[in-house]
Amino acid sequence: MSRPILAVDVDGVISLFGFDQPPDRATAKFEMIDGMVHCISFVAGERLRRLAEHFELVWATGWEGRANDYLPMLLGLPQLPYVSFDGAARFGSAHWKLGPLDAWGKGRSLAWIDDNFDESCYEWAQERTEPTLLVPTESHLGLEEAHTEALIAWAGGLEREARNR
Ligand SMILES: [Mg+2]
Repeated sequence: MSRPILAVDVDGVISLFGFDQPPDRATAKFEMIDGMVHCISFVAGERLRRLAEHFELVWATGWEGRANDYLPMLLGLPQLPYVSFDGAARFGSAHWKLGPLDAWGKGRSLAWIDDNFDESCYEWAQERTEPTLLVPTESHLGLEEAHTEALIAWAGGLEREARNR
């Protein structure tokens, strides 16, 4: 059985924003990326490395291929495939990801972690015939431990199901 896909947003998942107090230096660091300061969560990187043992990771972000220019090096991840959105990205929303992500995940189990799900995203998830899990994050906290554990448990459940079939 192939591993499920995990579609990974960057802003609000790995690059944190909207906090009152900057996060603890042990968990995140300000980095200059393409002339802009980003608060990169290193704990999110560590969690993604664990998730990569259970999922096939793919960038699903307005950063598109640029995510591979910086983030793998900062987070200790390999270069990842990325979903292309043809410049449709709009900060603060995620509905423009649906079409391309749907095409990418055709016929596959898919989890998606993002800080901007709206009604249309949940409807899409509901309508997919394959197992689908949306994991919403808070943009100032990003990918948390509870998300990580829930995702790994979900992937484990799929694997058990496939084995018992
Ligand atoms: Mg985002």
